[in-house]
Amino acid sequence: MNYGIEGKRALVCAASKGLGRGCAEALAREGADVTILARTESVVAKTAEEIGAMCGRTVAWVACDITTPEGRAAALAACPQPDILVNNAGGPPPGDFRSWDRDTWIRAIDANMLTPIELIKATIDGMISRRFGRIVNITSSAVKAPIDILGLSNGARSGLTGFVAGLARKVARHNVTINNLLPGAFDTDRLRSNTETRAKAAGKSVAEIREAGMAAIPAGRFGTPDEFGALCAYVCSAQAGYLVGQNLLLDGGNFPGTF
Ligand code: NAD
Repeated sequence: MNYGIEGKRALVCAASKGLGRGCAEALAREGADVTILARTESVVAKTAEEIGAMCGRTVAWVACDITTPEGRAAALAACPQPDILVNNAGGPPPGDFRSWDRDTWIRAIDANMLTPIELIKATIDGMISRRFGRIVNITSSAVKAPIDILGLSNGARSGLTGFVAGLARKVARHNVTINNLLPGAFDTDRLRSNTETRAKAAGKSVAEIREAGMAAIPAGRFGTPDEFGALCAYVCSAQAGYLVGQNLLLDGGNFPGTF
């Protein structure tokens, strides 16, 4: 299937590795003009080059911290009028809520709720006037079922989800869609570091925790950034204009609900 996004400008945040990179690769493969960002110049430049070589096209990049106003300004200078926006940033740290002060909460809310809202605010009117826009927020399965050690993520991402549920319905008539992708367990550096935290807390080896984690998932494994990117590309396609305000869970069947 041709997704009809050749030449569309795509800004993919936090994309030097992991799920963001998976989305950038899939969009570039579909012919979108992709700009990726991450904090470390050498790393983001190398990823852009690798994706470009893989897809036979130039992938632009910018080194910035997307959770800061300066970082967002740099991202929008590099890709001023995106047709596709993939919101992503590092997830908040795990821990016990008793040790989180106000600043800890503000950092989590800034990164995982207010940053995507600011980027939507800066780009959505252009999308409306061009009558095409696809906004994808990478959130977490924690929005559907809380994860014990990730209370900051459970809270901040639910705030974003509530906000965009309303906005998505206001812009859909302009062929601008906003949807959220909810990753379950995907084999990325983020998952590996969370596994280390769990192993330490349980006094077990990382390999043991990893095996147990995979065994508990109906699919019997973790997901891959490629699988995640493929869904992102579909959600950003011309064909997905009727997919509005949805929370799409990719978790290998881990969530036990019928719906
Ligand atoms: P990852 O650690 O593999 O990659 C994160 C990427 O974000 C890297 O490219 C990093 O450089 C970039 N980044 C981090 N903070 C940034 C910032 N402030 N500004 C710019 N770039 C930044 O992580 P991942 O597994 O791909 O996770 C992506 C998101 O999905 C995170 O928010 C994570 O919490 C969430 N998530 C991941 C999983 C999983 O299983 N991997 C599950 C649920 C939710």
